[in-house]
Amino acid sequence: MPFRCRRCGLCCSMAVKLEKPDIEMLKKTGLSLEDFSQDDDKGRLIMRRVNNYCYFLRIEHGVAGCAIYEHRPRRCREYPYGEKCSLIRHFVLHDLLNDVK
Ligand code: SF4
Ligand code: SF4
Repeated sequence: MPFRCRRCGLCCSMAVKLEKPDIEMLKKTGLSLEDFSQDDDKGRLIMRRVNNYCYFLRIEHGVAGCAIYEHRPRRCREYPYGEKCSLIRHFVLHDLLNDVK
């Protein structure tokens, strides 16, 4: 079955390492480096985070969205790097539990 994103937002809990083209593209939106990034515990530049999720994750009516979708980093564009999302399992379980209620 082809991959279908369920927009659960779990992948946005992963730290997204930034590359030079990502930074250049994000700066073109008018955001400063401090607005969209932070250092991780190894000193690498990653997307800014809040409460263990990306700062730019937005949840509306239970559906995840990206506030900078058109300018999101390469790693976000390429995730899940194939035909399957390994995090989708959590979401399917969540669906099943809700169906039982
Ligand atoms: S974890 Fe998978 S299903 Fe959920 S939003 Fe990310 S890509 Fe989509
Ligand atoms: S930039 Fe967008 S797609 Fe990437 S982690 Fe943040 S909210 Fe998710």
